Amino acid sequence: MTLLNGNGKPGTLTHHHRLETMMNGQQQTRVENTFAEDVFTLRVMQQRLPKDVFRAIQRTIEYGDPMSAAVADVVASAMKEWAMEHGATHYTHWFQPLTGLTAEKHDAFLTPDPDGTAISEFSGSALVRGEPDASSFPSGGIRATFEARGYTAWDCTSPVFLNRNGGTVTLCIPTAFVSWTGEALDKKTPLLRSMQVLSEQAMRILKIFGTDAGVTNITATLGCEQEYFLIDRELYFKREDLVTCDRTLFGTRPPKGQQLEDHYFGSIPTRVIGFMSEVERELCRLGVPVKTRHNEVAPCQFELAPLFETANIASDHQMLVMEAMKRVAPRFGLQCLLHEKPFKGINGSGKHVNWSMSTNTGVNLLDPRDDTHTNMQFLVFLVAVIRAVDLHADILRASVASAANDHRLGANEAPPAIMSVFLGDMLTDIIEQLESGSPKSTLKGGKLDLGARTLPQIPRHSGDRNRTSPFAFTGNKFEFRAVGSSGAVAWPATVLNTIVSESLDFVASQLEKALGKNADDKKLQSAVRALLQKLVKQHKRVLFDGDGYTQEWHAEAKKRGLPNFRESVASLQTMTLKKNVDVFKKFKVLSKVELESREHIFIEKYIKQVLIEAETAASIARTQILPAALRHQTELAEVVAATEAAEVDAAKAREHLEEFVGLVNQFRAAIDKLDGVVAKHPDGVHEHAGQIRDQVRPAMGALRELADELETRVPRDLWPIPSYREMLVIR
Ligand code: ADP
Ligand code: MG
Repeated sequence: MTLLNGNGKPGTLTHHHRLETMMNGQQQTRVENTFAEDVFTLRVMQQRLPKDVFRAIQRTIEYGDPMSAAVADVVASAMKEWAMEHGATHYTHWFQPLTGLTAEKHDAFLTPDPDGTAISEFSGSALVRGEPDASSFPSGGIRATFEARGYTAWDCTSPVFLNRNGGTVTLCIPTAFVSWTGEALDKKTPLLRSMQVLSEQAMRILKIFGTDAGVTNITATLGCEQEYFLIDRELYFKREDLVTCDRTLFGTRPPKGQQLEDHYFGSIPTRVIGFMSEVERELCRLGVPVKTRHNEVAPCQFELAPLFETANIASDHQMLVMEAMKRVAPRFGLQCLLHEKPFKGINGSGKHVNWSMSTNTGVNLLDPRDDTHTNMQFLVFLVAVIRAVDLHADILRASVASAANDHRLGANEAPPAIMSVFLGDMLTDIIEQLESGSPKSTLKGGKLDLGARTLPQIPRHSGDRNRTSPFAFTGNKFEFRAVGSSGAVAWPATVLNTIVSESLDFVASQLEKALGKNADDKKLQSAVRALLQKLVKQHKRVLFDGDGYTQEWHAEAKKRGLPNFRESVASLQTMTLKKNVDVFKKFKVLSKVELESREHIFIEKYIKQVLIEAETAASIARTQILPAALRHQTELAEVVAATEAAEVDAAKAREHLEEFVGLVNQFRAAIDKLDGVVAKHPDGVHEHAGQIRDQVRPAMGALRELADELETRVPRDLWPIPSYREMLVIR
């Protein structure tokens, strides 16, 4: 059955088909009776549009045919009617600016008329193009304020949906956001471009193997597993750090083990289950195929994973997932924390991005299949990805860099910042055989037969349980695990698509050259073997199946020459290395200016994020923690005075007081120190970011250590903010 359709244009999936097959119960069992109720699907369009208009819009969605103004008008009008019937009063162009969030500006369908009535209006041009005043979105220097115009353009491959919030319903139109000169100011535009090149380059491989019959388009597929924390909302509001920064800047870890008991299955509090179901219900209405939910390792940590979809739609849906979780939690007295590291000393949150490539005929190109040709083809795709990760590890690492993710990557928590590829035993074995160039006829009980034409029987789910690898092959897809929980997946997916495109281009060119005009099967086999052998030799250093947490691996990776950017400032600066600029330029995913602007924006965001944290930390320290410590100091002093007045030896109490006063003085000095480094503003974003990394972060760390020490000494009734012990239990 055809799940995907298209024309070599990006994102031409058909999501609509997919939704409909799901609704028809053909693909899998019915997810929900009301699935995609709030989505303007192809099916809805078919019911509501004149036949010829429907066929035209279908062609636009599936084959990228241009849309005429007349068609756009009719579609817009049907869309408006449908939306208003569902209670919508406004519409918005919905886009992903480089802030990492989504943006929308609402316009009403109704225009008041002086005669006391109102006219409802929504034209084709309002549907396909918007012109938000965009001067306050980051452009990284692309757009001067005097030319602040930004355009939004309807991405008709991602379905229009209704957003229900606060008793209002808004029609949301997924759009790309570009400057008036056409530069991408958002995350969707480069993602669509990268999908387009990936499709083109992957097609070349299929042509070489003669497996391209009926294939018109190849899409990147994404399945994102979202980890998150839930905490009691009342406690949340008592913590300025959580409210302002989404993470705790102070707090000592509760005694180990104790908090876990509340978290195992069987004891999920009712309101958490209530929250999960409501999120799922809302997402189902929006056509997000939510599938899995479960507890995570840390207390109060959970995970939600929709089924994979074409990358563009999965990326839009990922934003909806995060928004829905944030929106629904308060209804259950909860706050959803999406930060990568809300609690020190407790596992952080990531977003595993499962990635593969699929033809419009429904063939997963990373699925090791049974017959020789496709199997050999699988190995070509596999090795091309390995090559891409090795050659472009720096920009892949940079694609997940942020101040928040620094707490995970390169810290004592997986996955490490070294980009390595996990393959599992069976594939490692095959790779080793490819490297030897003369594959043995059999291996492991005769299962593997590379010499003959029946290729290895590669198990589809090779039981990967290595959670320490940032980039793991898991049966029929790669799982990029270094992505942070709070970020948009569009950018890491764009980078992945682009670097793999580069690799596929290289591989295809090599093979095309080796094969010449009239290649027969034998020639193909030997050309592929020769190339794979060479590539495996060149790039096997990036393969690693062991424990990524260990010091040994860090030492070994260094020996192998693998980059290890443990923090974001240096990592982000690799984005604009010439080799990376060249790749993005060559495949027209981002121009040099667009890439530079992104680096600039991400570094600026790093600066802002850490400065906000630093100022919040100083404020909490000075106005909450220090006063509490001083109150306790007074109590201790009173104890000394009272004890001495009673003519009892107060030496111990005095010692205790002196020690405590010493700690308080250190704490005060640490606040001043932090204030001092925050006040410095070296010129230039790189310099400023470096200063923040080298001075502000350590000063925050030092302040926190003292505060956490104070927390263990100040009586609980005086401690001004909720403790980890209180927050990490949901009743
Ligand atoms: P895990 O073992 O990591 O919990 P699962 O096998 O349940 O993972 O899959 C996790 C995610 O991977 C899901 O979102 C799933 O839809 C997605 N996934 C499965 N196949 C593909 C594919 N071909 N391309 C992209 N994502 C996929
Ligand atoms: Mg996973």
